[in-house]
Amino acid sequence: MTENLCPVGVDFHCHLDLYPDHKAAIARAEASRIYTLSVTTTPRAWPRNHELTRDTHYVRAALGLHPQLVAERSDELSLWERYLPEARYVGEVGLDAGPRFYKSLESQRHVFRTVLEKCAEAAGKILSVHSVRSVPAVLDMIERYLPRDRGVVVLHWFTGSKSEARRAAALGCYFSVNAEMVRSDRGCGLVADLPMDRILTETDGPFTKINGRPAEPSNMNVTIDLIARVRNVPSHEIAKTVQVNLQALLC
Ligand code: MN
Repeated sequence: MTENLCPVGVDFHCHLDLYPDHKAAIARAEASRIYTLSVTTTPRAWPRNHELTRDTHYVRAALGLHPQLVAERSDELSLWERYLPEARYVGEVGLDAGPRFYKSLESQRHVFRTVLEKCAEAAGKILSVHSVRSVPAVLDMIERYLPRDRGVVVLHWFTGSKSEARRAAALGCYFSVNAEMVRSDRGCGLVADLPMDRILTETDGPFTKINGRPAEPSNMNVTIDLIARVRNVPSHEIAKTVQVNLQALLC
């Protein structure tokens, strides 16, 4: 992912394996030259994702165990651990304390703690982390179980407060921002306030839509333009900053 081929964008959280044709979705991301982190929701998906991204130039796969699936799949944690040595990127992982998933929160905490501890042990991993209605708990756990010199967290679709964002930045976290985040005044305020050197972009496709269709890495210019508008700087500056930030994250 560090090749100097003048990339046109970054999609640091996209579920390419959830599009109707996984292989074609990877091919489209490659063709559009968007550095794409293709996150997974269960470790069972890892072998196929890993295989399909072995020789890709712009697309990388991440090993995940989604907090919304922990209720049914916490027994796959050992599988996640088994695959970890093969993965530089980890995600989607984290906590979800929303009403639908609150019941499994204790189990989610156990899984996320293990994920952070194993990543700390292995060192050098980059994590894409979900933190719905659980930002303080997620940050507490990162602080406690993943020391800054042992791994880097990218907070995906962050919806915490400005002060929580500052705390996250102080812990070394990055933020992957998607188009949905700047649809509300509160979201715009947050995105305008994020430290410039920690901003990345994402689609979280296919869960977000552009013109009524599932967003794809190739739609990244829409996100760039929205961030540029919110921060009142030219789009090309945001695009450049995101590239520089990605390089910094990977080095
Ligand atoms: Mn996601």
